[in-house]
Amino acid sequence: TLSDRLTSALQTLRGKGKLTDADIDATAREIRIALLEADVALPVVREFIAQIKQRAKGAEVSGALNPAQQVVKIVNEELIGILGGETRRLNLAKNPPTVIMLAGLQGAGKTTLAGKLALWLKKQGHAPLLVACDLQRPNAVTQLQVVGERAGVTTFAPEPGNGVGDPVEVARRGVEEARHAQHDVVIVDTAGRLGVDEELMRQAADIRDAVKPDETLFVVDAMIGQDAVTTAEAFRDGVGFTGVVLTKLDGDARGGAALSVRQVTGQPILFASNGEKLDDFDIFHPDRMASRILGMGDLLTLIEQAEQAFDAEQAEKAAAKLGTGQLTLEDFLEQMLAVRKMGPIGNLLGMLPGAGQMKEQLAQVDDKHLDRLQAIIRGMTPAERADPKIINGSRRQRIAVGSGVTVREVNDLVNRFFEARKMMQQMAGRFGFGGGGGSKA
Ligand code: GDP
Ligand code: MG
Repeated sequence: TLSDRLTSALQTLRGKGKLTDADIDATAREIRIALLEADVALPVVREFIAQIKQRAKGAEVSGALNPAQQVVKIVNEELIGILGGETRRLNLAKNPPTVIMLAGLQGAGKTTLAGKLALWLKKQGHAPLLVACDLQRPNAVTQLQVVGERAGVTTFAPEPGNGVGDPVEVARRGVEEARHAQHDVVIVDTAGRLGVDEELMRQAADIRDAVKPDETLFVVDAMIGQDAVTTAEAFRDGVGFTGVVLTKLDGDARGGAALSVRQVTGQPILFASNGEKLDDFDIFHPDRMASRILGMGDLLTLIEQAEQAFDAEQAEKAAAKLGTGQLTLEDFLEQMLAVRKMGPIGNLLGMLPGAGQMKEQLAQVDDKHLDRLQAIIRGMTPAERADPKIINGSRRQRIAVGSGVTVREVNDLVNRFFEARKMMQQMAGRFGFGGGGGSKA
């Protein structure tokens, strides 16, 4: 994977006071192979590598970072840039309803997305209306209705037998209906073909002209890799779109499609879909995708999860987990991030679930130290976080290099973690919160 290759490439840079051009070329070569393996389109890879080389060669040796860290920083920044930089939000119309049209190949995930987007908008206080304009496949309308019901939103569909077989007409009437019934967002689901074809493009373009969407979202299956680029270009030229939605990111796609589509079409990725359930869906964050591609963990998502996890119920669950001795480094990191989000440590000790001694330990940790601990855990693979017992000598070495700390600090963290886990287990035995009935302190 990209992160393995990067780690080994960076290993050779370790300890150097200054990066030579040969060092940079060698590292760039590794990154190039990794990107191609991740199915990133060749022109995108070329441009990316050229940029990395130029920046790395021009980089001043910084006092704060060692050369390896400097390269990671550059690679990360360039990745974020290529993925679109800032998170792009949905454009809402000044005069509702906002019309969002979905376009893409059959099976890309449009209908599923219609439901996900509707639910997401509904949670934010909008009143979306789904409009069924896929009249191509016999059960496409029913599929959208089912999805709509699950999301708890209304679906506008042609009534069977009243002669409405024209998707353009359905789209037009759908928007009208939204105005009547006070829906402030209209999501227009359209038909797709298995391959790009002219009739499909014409139909989509006609619907576009009829409803003048505020956003046309090109929906693309992240698992199709290189083909995503050809398809995206065809839709850009045939229909035009204002944003991209990547679906099926829960597959083992390493982000190749994401990198390519954004770069080739120049249009931002707005949302990512990562599962079949309606809430497997989120705003696309370039920085998080970059860290996922780099294999450095999805830190910001963890922070959000930690925030959300900090309600009483979750705290109780965590306490139960601590008690069973199943605590992982992932939990440890999550707890730490949750703690940090809450402000100065002293303020929050009272919020931790019934773990007196753990609180004392945390109270002795200052923010700088937490930074380093976080960096170390971020440098571990998911498997290592889940089962810290596997972190042997060579893994410690690798983790130390990746997170810019000494092996001793890694040892320290791992040892402290095991101590904490043992302690929690003993305490759970004594106070009985392993069974789930924890104190909410
Ligand atoms: P459409 O033809 O573009 O409308 O695509 P559908 O919404 O019908 O989706 C095609 C298939 O992909 C369905 O079986 C969906 O359940 C599945 N699907 C859609 N989005 C995702 C996703 O993000 N992850 C996974 N695993 N499956 C998805
Ligand atoms: Mg569909």
